[in-house]
Amino acid sequence: MYKEYTATELAGELSGVRHLSPELTGPLAMLDEASLGWTMRYPQLAEAQQAFAQARGQQWPRTRTEQTWEQVVACADNLASALRELGDSSLDFCDQPTAWGTCDRVLPEHGVCRGVRNHVTATAAEVSA
Ligand SMILES: [Zn+2]
Repeated sequence: MYKEYTATELAGELSGVRHLSPELTGPLAMLDEASLGWTMRYPQLAEAQQAFAQARGQQWPRTRTEQTWEQVVACADNLASALRELGDSSLDFCDQPTAWGTCDRVLPEHGVCRGVRNHVTATAAEVSA
């Protein structure tokens, strides 16, 4: 559902985390996954994304406390600021066919899709690149 979001829009969702209930782990999981896609394209986000992923990993019923929630909110804010610097950028997804459907990986800014080996159209040169 976050696939079509621009960096600013995803940042808005992350900033909104503070208004969610700490008991809802679903939206955090989705935001984690969505922001992970952005690190494929923009490696500079990796650190902030990992911090958020780690923080939300503590947010399970058995381990969560007020502190873990504060950590989730802080990391979400931090990741939101990093995303905002990218403005209206959005991600491109690979449209090449694979044996099980469209490849659909996030394309890097330069170079070929990381899933090129799975493309049914891949040439030997692409696979060894
Ligand atoms: Zn691909």
